[in-house]
Amino acid sequence: MADQKLDILIFGAHADDAEIGMAGTIAKHVSAGLAVGICDLTQAEMSSNGTVDNRMQEANHAAKVLDLTVRTNLGLPDRGLFVTPEHVERITAEIRKHAPSIVFAPYWEDRHPDHVACSRLVEEAVFNAKLRRYMPDTPSIKVDELYFYFINDLGQTDLVVDVSEQYSVKEQALACYRSQFQKIEQDAVATPLTEGYIERVRARDSLLGARRLIPYAEGFATKSPYVVHLFGSSQA
Ligand SMILES: [Zn+2]
Repeated sequence: MADQKLDILIFGAHADDAEIGMAGTIAKHVSAGLAVGICDLTQAEMSSNGTVDNRMQEANHAAKVLDLTVRTNLGLPDRGLFVTPEHVERITAEIRKHAPSIVFAPYWEDRHPDHVACSRLVEEAVFNAKLRRYMPDTPSIKVDELYFYFINDLGQTDLVVDVSEQYSVKEQALACYRSQFQKIEQDAVATPLTEGYIERVRARDSLLGARRLIPYAEGFATKSPYVVHLFGSSQA
């Protein structure tokens, strides 16, 4: 199962990053029959609320809601994510293992430094994955597209995906992360996530949709020009 070929592989620094940015897009592609997986780089052990164990349960629950083919966790250090050869190797190995055509990473600017580090690391790993002399024991693979999703901060939006029909699934996936979005423990502390975060995500997705008269959309950025085969064709 862990070596399963994926169409789409999404990386996040912490479980819940991918859901915040693109749970609707995930649900849409899964219902279209694509194999989608998430790889969380850390166990979020530095989170102000929730424990590693209950965050793992929440992540597994969200994976079921989204019907992911696979969800893995690399166990890299939370707040210790840096562009090091070892971290790039671990992520490259994960990409080669699943050979996805499309990879998603967090947008390159965000108030959380681990999201920025994750973005950079995945970009390096996507590049290295195609080099046949880099880690030559595993076959090199070429990822067709690398897209960036938004977590805390909105940035350059090159593409939007209409997720209006999948929005309730996104809300169910986010609701799995009770330890983050609600103060459920006695010693829970207020964080940006506990103060109306899900409502803000919904407002953001509604505003992103408004630009194209769509009820709810998720936005993405890309560093490579998007290829149009035929203007006026919905087949990109
Ligand atoms: Zn995060």
